[in-house]
This record gives sequence, C-alpha cells and structure tokens, in this order.
Amino acid sequence: MQTKFLPHGTRDAWFAGGSPIALLETWTRSRKPADAVSDLAETPVRPAPSELLRRSLARGRLGHAYLFQGDSIEALETVAIEFVQALFCTQPVAGPDPGVAPAGCGTCPACRRIEHFNHPDVHWVHPESALRQIKVDHMRELMAEMALRPAEAGRKIAIVVGVDRMNANAANAFLKTLEEPPANSLILLLTTEPGRVLETIVSRCQRLSMGSGVPRIEPAVQSWVASVATASGSAPGKALLPRYRVLSEFLAVLGKVHEDIEERIEADSPIHRYPDAEPAQKKQWEKEMAGAVEAEYRRVRAAYLSGLHAWLRDVWATRAGAAVELFLPELKGATAALAARLTEPEARQNLEAWERTQGLLHGNVQESLALEVGLLRLNL
Ligand SMILES: [Zn+2]
Repeated sequence: MQTKFLPHGTRDAWFAGGSPIALLETWTRSRKPADAVSDLAETPVRPAPSELLRRSLARGRLGHAYLFQGDSIEALETVAIEFVQALFCTQPVAGPDPGVAPAGCGTCPACRRIEHFNHPDVHWVHPESALRQIKVDHMRELMAEMALRPAEAGRKIAIVVGVDRMNANAANAFLKTLEEPPANSLILLLTTEPGRVLETIVSRCQRLSMGSGVPRIEPAVQSWVASVATASGSAPGKALLPRYRVLSEFLAVLGKVHEDIEERIEADSPIHRYPDAEPAQKKQWEKEMAGAVEAEYRRVRAAYLSGLHAWLRDVWATRAGAAVELFLPELKGATAALAARLTEPEARQNLEAWERTQGLLHGNVQESLALEVGLLRLNL
C-alpha cells in the first residue's frame, strides 16, 4: 500500500531536492489520487477463501500463483492446506453448490500427509534462522523440486510462508519460476505483511485478502504510538514543539532498536564460532551480517511506521464518522480528542503525509530527514 502512493519520479526528486523545503515542495507537487484513502475503510473479501479457490477450480480458471494475505500466518497456512487437500484428496466431498469444486475429506492418506507437511508433491518454505529470512538457497532448493515430475499427484505445489521475509536475492532467483512456472504446478505465497512483499513478486500473483483487515501491532510499537498520542494532546494546534519531541523520541527508539538487532545478529554470527576462519570468509560473514542487520532493522522500522499509520487512520475514521473498528481501541480517548481538533481534510492529510513518508523510507532516503519532514507535516 505504501508504494502505491509514491508517484514515479518522487524518489529521484527527493534525492535531488536536498533541503527539507525542497522536499516539501516535491511533496506538495506530487498529489496522490483523491480516492486513495477510501479503501482503508473497505472490508476485505471474506468468503471462505478456500471456497473461493475451489470456485476458480470448478470453472477451470485456477491461476498458477496466488498471494494470500491476512492477519495470522497460521490461518493462511490452514487455507493453503485445505485448498491443496481439495486438489489431492482421494475421496473429495462435494457440497450443494456445483459451482464450487469438492473439498478435501481431511481423513484420507493424501489429506493427512498434506496436513502433516509430508506429502511428496507439496513443498513448503518457511523463514529460517534467528533472522527469520528466506534466502536464495531455500528458493533454489524449492525450484529444483518444482522442476521434477510430480511423485504421485497430478501436480506439484509450492507454498512459501512469510514471503515478506524473502530477501532480494531469493526473490530475484524466484522471479522466473513465478513468471513461467513448470507445467502442472501451483505456487501459494503467504504473508501477514503484504506491504513488505517485493513489488516484483506481488505483480506476478493473484492476490487473495483474508482476515479482518485489522493489523497486528506489537506492544513496543503500541506504546510508542501511545506516546505520540499523548504528545499530540499536550500542545494542540500548530505548535512545532510536540512534533519535534515526537521526532527526537522516535529517533531514540529507533536507535535502540538498531542496537538490539545488531547485538542479536552478531551473537548469532559464525565469526565468533570460527575465529580461525580465512580472512576472505570472515569478510563475507561480516558483509552478510551487515545486510541482515539492515534488513531486520528496516522491517522493524516499518512496523513502527505502520503503527502510527494505524492510529492516524483511526483519527481520520473517527473524524469522518466511518463505521469501522478502531485499530487501536485503547487509544480511543486520544483519538477522539485529536479527531475533534481536526477538520476531515486535515485528518486525511495526516494519512497522506505519513503514507508518503512510508513510501520514501521504503527507498534509500536519509532516514532522519524523511522522518523530520514527515512528522512536521502532521496535524497533531
Ligand atoms: Zn481426503
């Protein structure tokens, strides 16, 4: 969602601009489509998702690659399992609607092996290591499997859990397979953070949205968002002070986050286990470690940005009188207070400004500058 609001050229303009004022001008010039905010309130599609797929199957219109997005990875795995059972079951159960392909029975040997992750034609990839990353080796292994003939079923299935954890190398290696999958294969990609899935992957899949649409917000992020909400009430109006305070607190929080990640990843690195390794090997490990720290840091930072976005969305929804569930119900008081101080366009501008900040930080902009400009744009 973040990148959608970033028109082509904005990023270059950002680099060229330099000063915050130039950046603000760039920002003002590149307006986003007027209806972009409205889809925040949209209820995601919510028929039983595996039924939706079975409908496509019955019509003979099953795609070759799907991106499942939802709130819980376990729920998405369940949908994947149920659908693959429907494909491979030896005693499928037909429902009343002939437009929906029969479901798996759940008890035959094929169904059971699918459920226990040991069906020879269903290949799972999960993020691995302390970093929870999907690396190029995992994808190469998967692609080698997919290139083989099915062992017993009529097709081969690849299921990638947490595809947002796929690093760029892994994604690049996988693109060709995604574009021209082997005959009789089906690829299911699962994510709870669709905004973090590389665009090259997203654009090659059919997307299926499931779940409530309410984002999960980690406790650390929640408490930071609560501190922003408190600051917003402390000096209402156009005062810069609360926004600068929010900025400096946020930079401090991010600094700590970076430190913790570095510590954790360094402790996990083979450098300490193999002190006598070749210098070239050590250098390679160091490079990998730095890359891993950066990737993980960006992921956590994105969670903070999304947390604030969720609150700004609540403020906007409250101000607009939209009948939606609050993402942060515990901040209801502060949300209502800010909503009461803002006009509806101001509340909407907050969302737009923050979405732009998210989009810019997705690229390689200078973090503190992007955050300063982004936070100063907010009506708090
Ligand atoms: Zn079965």
